[in-house]
Amino acid sequence: MKRIIKFLLFMMVLPMLVITTACNPDDKSINIFTIQDDIALGQQVAAEIAGDPAKFPVLSRTQYPAAYEHLDRIMNAILATKLVTYDTVFPWTTYIIKGDSVVNAFATPGGQLYFYTGIIKELENEAQLAGVMANEMAHCSRRHSTDQLTRYYGLSLLVAIVLGENPSMLNQIAADLASGLAALAFSRQMEYEADAYAIKYLSSTDYHPLGLADFFIRMEGLPQPPTFLSTHPSPEDRIDKINEAWAANGSKVGDYFEVRYQSFKAALP
Ligand SMILES: [Zn+2]
Repeated sequence: MKRIIKFLLFMMVLPMLVITTACNPDDKSINIFTIQDDIALGQQVAAEIAGDPAKFPVLSRTQYPAAYEHLDRIMNAILATKLVTYDTVFPWTTYIIKGDSVVNAFATPGGQLYFYTGIIKELENEAQLAGVMANEMAHCSRRHSTDQLTRYYGLSLLVAIVLGENPSMLNQIAADLASGLAALAFSRQMEYEADAYAIKYLSSTDYHPLGLADFFIRMEGLPQPPTFLSTHPSPEDRIDKINEAWAANGSKVGDYFEVRYQSFKAALP
């Protein structure tokens, strides 16, 4: 009987979800996850990653304090802009994964930010890495991952959650995320949005916001297509849109911090 009531409730909720989406043309998000779900998912993915050091050799904070100091400085500068939604809500954390041949970075829902040594070593200055980090942080704050997950798991997830039939669903999703992070590619539209937000954030920091455009130019010039471009749509058009966003945010000029970036690289194994 209880189940039937829950199902009826679900049938009532469903059209509301559709109406909410339809009435909000600016926000095409159909995200059914809560902010707490984003945080829980991110922490569970982080636990999965920590539990698989063979696949994800994360550098220890106690062993490499200087490297983390450099990386955290970038994250904190972006958070200090007060422009990142959930800046004080998500448990923002950085991680460095050993992997010199992997030119990639990724973020879980809820602000867990991962950078391979390969991407840090490939870049020339801190403004470029700040561009990458701002893009990843925008994915978190715009909640692109759980938006994609809602589309991916679809109605069956809605039913399972509303009927309370599958409380371990979040665990399952976290495991899926950790095992196939590369599969969760963002749409072109999400990347444009993340780039636009990244430029907005960076325009309020000391970093030159066009470090993000330089990053894509550098990625395009690599002899081997980097992993970053397989989890992110092609940089075509992105550079133009980044330049437009930069102008729209007042064409702010900043520093590249090339010298400081060399000490960051030197602090890596
Ligand atoms: Zn991205």
